[in-house]
Amino acid sequence: MRILVLNAGSSSLKFGVFDIAPGAGVAEARQVFKASFDRFAPDGCDFRSGIADPQTTRAAHTSLAEATEAVPAVLRQAGIDNIEAVGHRIAHGGARFKQAAELSAEVIDEIRALTPLAPMHNPANLQAVDVARSVWPYVPHWAVFDTSFHLENPARAITYAVPKAWRESGLRRFGFHGTSHKYVAHRAADELAQPLRDLRLVSLHLGNGASACAIAHGKSLDSSMGMTSLEGLVMGTRSGDVDPGLFGYLSRQMGLGVAEIEEALYRDSGLKGLTGSSDMRDVEARAAEGDADAQLAINIYAYRARKYIGAYAAAMGGLDVLVFTGGIGENSPSMRRRICDGLDFMGLRIDHDRNMAVTLQDRAALQIQAYGTRVNVLVTETAEQLMIAHEVANAISLPKPRHVSIPIAVSARHVHLSREAVDALFGPGYELTPDKPLRQKGHWVARERVTLHGPKGDIAHVAILGPLRPRTQIEISRTDSFKLGLDAPVRQSGALDGTPTIRLIGPAGHYDTDGLIIAARHIHMNRDDAREIGLSDGDTVDVTLDSSGRGLTFSHVLVRVADNAFTEMHIDTDEANAAGISGAVEGELSGEALLKHP
Ligand code: ADP
Repeated sequence: MRILVLNAGSSSLKFGVFDIAPGAGVAEARQVFKASFDRFAPDGCDFRSGIADPQTTRAAHTSLAEATEAVPAVLRQAGIDNIEAVGHRIAHGGARFKQAAELSAEVIDEIRALTPLAPMHNPANLQAVDVARSVWPYVPHWAVFDTSFHLENPARAITYAVPKAWRESGLRRFGFHGTSHKYVAHRAADELAQPLRDLRLVSLHLGNGASACAIAHGKSLDSSMGMTSLEGLVMGTRSGDVDPGLFGYLSRQMGLGVAEIEEALYRDSGLKGLTGSSDMRDVEARAAEGDADAQLAINIYAYRARKYIGAYAAAMGGLDVLVFTGGIGENSPSMRRRICDGLDFMGLRIDHDRNMAVTLQDRAALQIQAYGTRVNVLVTETAEQLMIAHEVANAISLPKPRHVSIPIAVSARHVHLSREAVDALFGPGYELTPDKPLRQKGHWVARERVTLHGPKGDIAHVAILGPLRPRTQIEISRTDSFKLGLDAPVRQSGALDGTPTIRLIGPAGHYDTDGLIIAARHIHMNRDDAREIGLSDGDTVDVTLDSSGRGLTFSHVLVRVADNAFTEMHIDTDEANAAGISGAVEGELSGEALLKHP
């Protein structure tokens, strides 16, 4: 399938053409054309085209609309025809668009209604949509949103501490550059040959717009841009984080109106506000010549980025991978170095020769961490257009869903103990007594029980599941976490780094340990069932429970395939209560992963 991707910004139009087989992985997509119109001015704009050796010339177009209308001629001249779909990058999809959406009249209206949240970007995006729909009226046009990847961020990351009425009117954090962060996270995990779900990763997208994103175990946890794309890092012309108190101050002291202040924060701040130029190449060149403003700007830029790395490492309970991307992240070794300097204490150090030697082509992802350090540091080109083409190809080619059901099992709170924990709780060398076998082969409930002790209260008679594990893990529900007064994170079993500490009490003593989690819902699936259904280890699916109870769809349920597993889904008691489950229940599987394997 041949897909044209349009990425329209306020002052540029980037576009690319990709050949991608429906259902194929991102790595298999082939880019057949790449070009951009940039810096529109009354006397024309720059035109850059070519994949391997791009050339820049001048073109006569003075606006985004003119440039978009010129795209068919550019493609014709390059011998590119048979466009089968157009993918549009849309900056703000609000809370509504969790995935790509076909650009119907209603969808376009919804995107237009979100303009107040992305005043610089959504109007430009929609202008290109308008022109492109008239130029290619007979092919489907799809929107891929910068915000979708972050829509599952937890409430604590997206909620501003402001009056309730404001929050109820829709004020919240969203986050942007989602397509880029998602792509580079997958690319880094591929390069490291580790599943993304095992990694805690910070992605730094440093282009004209810039944002940091914390990606914990495959999901965006938090990102530095907020309700709008103004929050966070220092950018080309945007301020990033400022004290909102400046609105009152500037209004009283300088008589500025809200619109003027906002305009200045979007267009005259960041590198431009600090140095007069929004272009990091200029700023670096001037700093090298001794310009004090440029030197300070570079220091502020790096310092802000480093603060976010530290904050996100804390938010995720550690850091395994840092990825640089975007024009500055990809091309400025000195900025990468400044950002990473001083992070030795958290196991992050780059190798200066590797850092200087980075040249990126053919979607390379290069590792630049110093040998033997704990945190892997990678540099890779972002490939937003490629990712957009991939998402559009997949969305268009999804076959009709099939019906697959699996049994649901409700896990009440329980603990898995280590040898050390059993010794402390029941006495040295004590052996637990298997009482009842569980459906997962070789697993059992012990006759013994323990008490969980938290700062707010205790929970007694908590079941112990055997056999022993190398590391103690305590699985409770959200309701339990309030009773204990401890904030347990939602984690997959075994992902225990950075989890809170709790006291377990047994007949022979107590044991303080980390490992307190709310178990993320998951599906155990044996290899034969997985093959038959067409799922692989690590896939995620949606599971709908509506044959009984209150009717609920659990989204993003991780599938864990093992040879001897008994195929069933595990949810906790809060989830079961929310779904109104009693007795034996089955859930119906759906979702993209299932559709990819007809
Ligand atoms: P956009 O966000 O518009 O896609 P880019 O990702 O292309 O922007 O990033 C543009 C930024 O990258 C500019 O500040 C530019 O100066 C910077 N940049 C590009 N090449 C280099 C380089 N070799 N050294 C430093 N900065 C660079």
